[in-house]
Parts: sequence; C-alpha cells; structure tokens
Amino acid sequence: MTDKKPVKIEVGPRSKPVVPLVSSYRPKQCLERFWLDLVEDKSLRNEEDPFMVELAKLGNAHEARGQEHLEQGGQAARIECFEKTTTAKFTKMVDEARLSKHAIIVSDESGRGEQLAQHATHALCENPGEVSLIWNAHLRPWRKTANGYEWGGRSGKPDALVRDKIRGGAQRWNPVDYKAHRALEKTGKVRTWKTSPLTDHRSTSDHTAAGPFKESDAMQLAHYVEMLTFHGLEGNGTGGIVGVDFGQDAHTIVWVDLNEKLYDRGRKSAMELYAEKYAEARAVAECGSKRRKGEEVSAITRPEWKSECKTCVWREHCQERLIESDDTTLLAGVTVKVARALRECGVDTVAKLARLDIATAQILDHKVEELDVLVADARSMRQYANSPVGAAISGPDAKVEDVLVKHNVTTVGALAALDLETAKMPAGVNLVAHIDQARVVDYARRKKMAHIFRARGVHAVSIPRGNVEIHTDMEEDGIIYCWGNYLSWRNPSTGKLRTSYHAFVTFERTDAEEARVFAEYWAFLQEWQNKAAEKFGVDTFKVFHYTQAEDRCMRHLAKKHAGAAGVPSIEEVDAFLASEAWVDLYPILTKSLVWPTDDHSLKSLAKYVRFMWRDTDPSGANSTLWYQKASDPNLSDDERKIWQTRLLQYNEDDVQATAALVDFVDRFTKVYDMTKKLPPVEDLEPRYRRGALTKV
Ligand code: SF4
Repeated sequence: MTDKKPVKIEVGPRSKPVVPLVSSYRPKQCLERFWLDLVEDKSLRNEEDPFMVELAKLGNAHEARGQEHLEQGGQAARIECFEKTTTAKFTKMVDEARLSKHAIIVSDESGRGEQLAQHATHALCENPGEVSLIWNAHLRPWRKTANGYEWGGRSGKPDALVRDKIRGGAQRWNPVDYKAHRALEKTGKVRTWKTSPLTDHRSTSDHTAAGPFKESDAMQLAHYVEMLTFHGLEGNGTGGIVGVDFGQDAHTIVWVDLNEKLYDRGRKSAMELYAEKYAEARAVAECGSKRRKGEEVSAITRPEWKSECKTCVWREHCQERLIESDDTTLLAGVTVKVARALRECGVDTVAKLARLDIATAQILDHKVEELDVLVADARSMRQYANSPVGAAISGPDAKVEDVLVKHNVTTVGALAALDLETAKMPAGVNLVAHIDQARVVDYARRKKMAHIFRARGVHAVSIPRGNVEIHTDMEEDGIIYCWGNYLSWRNPSTGKLRTSYHAFVTFERTDAEEARVFAEYWAFLQEWQNKAAEKFGVDTFKVFHYTQAEDRCMRHLAKKHAGAAGVPSIEEVDAFLASEAWVDLYPILTKSLVWPTDDHSLKSLAKYVRFMWRDTDPSGANSTLWYQKASDPNLSDDERKIWQTRLLQYNEDDVQATAALVDFVDRFTKVYDMTKKLPPVEDLEPRYRRGALTKV
C-alpha cells in the first residue's frame, strides 16, 4: 500500500474563481451581510461583537477537545501539513496514516500547508486504507477536468468526514461537525435519533429526545454534502453534529437524514432548503463579482432588522440605513416575513403602515383573502349600494359574508367604502396590531415623546397582586443551573416592606446539582406560599415570571428528576403552574399595552421604565458565556468567583426589572385622574384617519 516515491502535490488552478466562493456559513447567514462583505467599505463595520468572539472561542475549544479525544484514543495518525513539510515526509505520513483508523490533518493554513491538507484529504477519501474518519478535512473547492480545472462554487472544511459504504465503485463519506451547542433544540416533538461515538461511528444507538435538529447545523452539513458530491464522494445523505447534548466530553454524534422533510413545517428537507439558500447566496456572489469589476448592478439584497443583526459586524451601518428608510422591520412584532409581505403590497415604511385603515385591517385579520378585489367589485356596483353585501361576493362565500357583517359591512356601499390601499395588504398577518405599533412609534417620533398606550379594546390593565410576591427568573446552559427570586412582602404588624434576593444556584454541571437546586427552589416556593396563606389568607401569594421559559423548565425538571429528593412530581408542578399564584407578565405587558420600544424583550421594556442593570453589557446570551467561565474548572477559584458574582448580580437585576415593570403599570391603574391613566391606542385614530393625515 505504501507508495515508494513522493506524490506530486496537486496545487489546483492558478487564478482565483471569477465568482467568489460561497462558504459553509453563507447560506445560513443574512445575505445582506454577504453582499456588504463583498462590496462595502470595511471601515464601516463594527468591531466583532464580544459575545460572538467568545462563542467562537468556545466553538474552537470544543473542536480542540474532539481532536484531543481522537489522539487519546490511540488509533489516530497525524498528518502535518506545514509550509516547510517536504513532499517526501508528507507522502510518508499519508501512507502511514492509511494503516490507522483515524487520520488527523493538521495545517498551518499557509499556502503550501493548505495544498498539502487538501491533497491529504482527497488522497485518503479516494484511497483510505484502514482510515474510517478524517479529522479536519480540507475539501478542494475545485476539481480537475480533462480541460484543466473547474471551480465548484463552494468552500468549506468539515471537522470530520466519516467513511460510508463503497457505492458505484467509489469510497463515500459523510460530514460531521463539532458545535458548542446542542444538536437537538428540544423545542419540538420527541422522536428517535441515531447516535454514535465519534471514535466508532458505525456503532449506532437510539436516542429518544425532542427535536428538531438545529436548522443552521443541517444547512452546514448539506453544504458539505454538496461539496462531496462535486467530487463524487458523497455518502448516504446523512450528516452528524457533535454538540453538548450529552455533555462537553461525551463526543457523541447525533445523526440526521438530510433528505428527510424536517423543516418548513415538514415541507422541506435540509438538502432542499439548502439548495434554495445556496442559489440565493450564489446570486449575491455573482452580483458582487460584477460590482467589483465596476459594472453597474443593483444590490439584490437589503437590510432587514432581525435577531441576527444585534451581533452582526454591520449592525450600525444597517441600522442607520433602516432608520433612514423608515423600515418596518424596526417595529416590535414585525418579522422579516411580515415586512416582506407588506412590502410586496406597497407598504415599506412605518409611516405608510401607520396610515392604513383599521376597519379594513380588522377584516383582513380574519383571513379574508383578496379583499381588494371585493372592494373594487363593490365600487363598480354603485347602483346596488344599498343591497346586502352578499350581492358583491361571488361564490357566494358565507364565511366572508359573515366576517363582513360582523364588522358592520352589511351593504355593497359599506364594502365599497373600505380602504382599497389597506385591502391590498396580506390577510392573516395580525395587521391591526402592526398598524397600532406603527402609530405609537410614528406618534412618538413626531411628538418627540414616547408614550405607552393601552392596546386596542383593552379598557383597563390589571396585574394581579399578592401580599407576598416573588419575581422569578431561571438561567440555563445545558443544565438549568439557577432559579433567582426577588421576594417582597409587607409586615402586617409594622407595615414595613421587606425585600430580599434568593438564588438557588449551582456552578457544577451535574444532574444531581440541577435536581438539588430545583428541589430547593420548590421548597422555597412552598414555604412562602404557606406563610402567605397563614399570615394573609388564601390567594395572597403571587410568583411573577416573564415568558413561559420557566414553565417549560419546571415541567422538564419534574420529569427528568422524578423521584429525586425534594423534586415535585409533574402533577404537583402542573397544578402549581395552573394556579392563580403563577403569573406570566409577558402576555399582560405585551398584549394589553403598546410600547414605543424596538422590541418586547424584558431589557427594552424595563429600560423604558428607567430600570438600569448594574452590568454594562447585560443579556441572556452574555450570561451563558459568563456561566461557562463561572463553572470552568480550569480557572482559579478567585477567577470563577468574579464570574459567579457577575452572573448572580445580572440575575438579581433581571428579577428586580420585572418588579419595576409591575410597579410602573400598577401606578397607572391606581390613579383616579383620567388624564394620568394610560391612553387607549384608539385615541390616535383621528390623527391617522385617512383625510386627517395632513394633521399628523
Ligand atoms: S446588520 Fe442585519 S441586515 Fe445588516 S448585514 Fe447584519 S444581519 Fe444583515
């Protein structure tokens, strides 16, 4: 098997590809970012977001653990691909690697290092000998043809390729990638997944857990499959992720069939979804290549504000452009999908959205399709203006007629009087709420004063209060490690308000510790519920939380740690969560009120009521990084203590923030002077009614 002579290293095409290559990250990222990276002045970029830098470090550390695990297994051969590696030495290393189960490619990323790494990857893929896993694979973005070289359009380096069965006389390979997050998001249905150890990928076991398999990871694996296909090396269409589902050091591959229709509500497979995204990315690359050559081409992408923007290097550049263009994606609740649907119908600014007609939008929200056609038809039937509205509905469609009549559109004339511009908008996108949000923001901009309004149809905002109150917030990172609580109660004899912070927390990443802190948290809730009942009577105890994350985690822990000391049964948890004591503030605050804020996050709302976090950079994302450090056994006790303190202060401020929000809203509900009450959003109607628009 061992070659006698050094091989000739294939260096590939001399020139760069005409169209920039699409890397494995592009199809899962914002395409505007790809465009800006290709054509925009780099000085307009922000610094890399510290969170993303830390995340990249965690990802690299997780990959490094993977390599170490293979090295420690004693079945891996190392192939060093450095600038100074001679061809003879390289040939020997590749030949010797063929006798091992695992081959580890190490490259210094120099020009020659890269060529050697690519050569080693392809030499082993085509003629693996005993090798069943290639670590740090460098797939070539080009292939050799009878006429020279051909570029494949993609670039990418899977962390590992594992050998599949020989098909069509050729060796076949499947990609595996290391990710410092869970492969399974645990938000969907429970099902069975195949798993196997990294060191023995053919030995599979069944793992029953909630999915879905993270879409962005599946996209990246699909990208590698297409790269393998370009070289005729693709396997059976599966790919694997080694995440932290089983702990950082478990090195367990979770497999996914990339051709199974797991995405877009079961309509598309990862390969199909990827094909669409790749085609879009490729179009951006082609457009960018023309622009770089000086051709006059318009951008085919545009900025759209979404969660990805917060950590993107172009965030300020895009935000400035979005503010300037008054883009609707800047509105809380308006997703990119809704903004696109509105744009297609001619509404691309907050100001235009604010000016749509509520009465017409209310009908659209009942999913009446093609309302504009109905309105136009009614307008052509002037002579039947007093006829019942059904006369203008072809079909006839009883459901549509019913919706119209319920909204006082009982005659053809009333239908004709609806606003045609609004009637062109998409149906079933919660248009009334978006119009109200746009009006509150537009009004704040014009008046240079941001006001909160009561949501449409809400006469009073009331938050149930207790004599004993706890504001609670859970923190998780692989394990649910903290239950933080801000307790407040008034001493009945002295009338003095008592407040204190209680955190049930562990910095050891074990199931036993997770169960212990949950049991302590549960005991704390029971203790104060009993005390409240004793001192103040029934229904005097409230626990406030923001969103249903805590519900999900309590149920999960009750099932996971069933039978552990102090852990409540799922029935006990369900009964408590269904009781009057458990109060989710999110629907109360976001459905009853319209905030002039960018989003409905706790941070944005609390900031509006002037609550300040002590930390300079508070966020849920950052807290996961702090926890990594707070629980890192490689750091000293003192170093860990610093991160632990930061984390607990952040949690304490989170629970005090919800308390500040409750107090703020309560102040308005208690006042008797109507001018000091929160105004209803309906008060804005006269300013935005068509015909009155010039007065806004
Ligand atoms: S800031 Fe947002 S829109 Fe702009 S490039 Fe980044 S992700 Fe895309």
